[in-house]
Amino acid sequence: MKLLRVGPLGKEKPAILDSDGLARDLSGIVPDIGGDTLLPDRLNDIARVDISQLPILTGRIGACVGDVAKFIGIGLNYSDHAKEVGLPIPEEPIVFSKWTNCICGPNDEVIKPKGSTKMDWEVELGIVIGTPGVYIDETDAEAHIAGYCVVNDLSERAFQLERGGQWDKGKGCETFGPIGPWLVTKDEVADVANLSLWLDVNGTRYQDGNTKTLIFKPNFIVSYLSKFMKLQSGDIICTGTPPGVGMGQQPPSYLEVGDSMNLGITGLGEQSQTVI
Ligand code: ZN
Repeated sequence: MKLLRVGPLGKEKPAILDSDGLARDLSGIVPDIGGDTLLPDRLNDIARVDISQLPILTGRIGACVGDVAKFIGIGLNYSDHAKEVGLPIPEEPIVFSKWTNCICGPNDEVIKPKGSTKMDWEVELGIVIGTPGVYIDETDAEAHIAGYCVVNDLSERAFQLERGGQWDKGKGCETFGPIGPWLVTKDEVADVANLSLWLDVNGTRYQDGNTKTLIFKPNFIVSYLSKFMKLQSGDIICTGTPPGVGMGQQPPSYLEVGDSMNLGITGLGEQSQTVI
């Protein structure tokens, strides 16, 4: 299933994409795409609905998960990206926070922060947690995953790396978390370890990677994080970015007001944002 949220910011309705690409209104069935709706039994309930009878929704596509409790980033998780930015391959996953209220729709405008000189892009595979858990064994991790989505882990490199302390200052600025267009349930993702990811800026391809070169794979990441926190339904984990970020260009190239990004992952849909 491809689950999404349609409507004005803060007033999105839960929806499901039908085989013709139309968004069908699920608001009579579930309160939102998020939280308990992502438990396996609730997803099975949705799968049994005859969606051809549901009203069609049009308009803005919002973030594919609502009311996200945790938005967690994994840093330097592609061997070829670590090399491009000149940093060693981590021995354990680098974990950082993105503030949950930076989450926005996949095609919303993104804001260049005041004082920003190094705003950058990062196409990433997002894991959406379904079943909560703590101390999850890696062999059991997939059972805790509801599905996957596209994330643009927007980053301000000067805030992230030159202002002291942790990466978080450059990761959670307003609108720095477009997610979606849809949450694709895991049964529709044949091989999460072999998905192409790409990102274009102003029509030029900068990122062209594959989850094959992930250092730490999704099941390992879920198990690893659950040693340090309790994972909840609707938590989103962005798993790191392949090569081709602005910081890795020779010379570095960063986003300016008016620039546009198009990005996507095989089978998970595409996003498009303009910088304002
Ligand atoms: Zn990232």
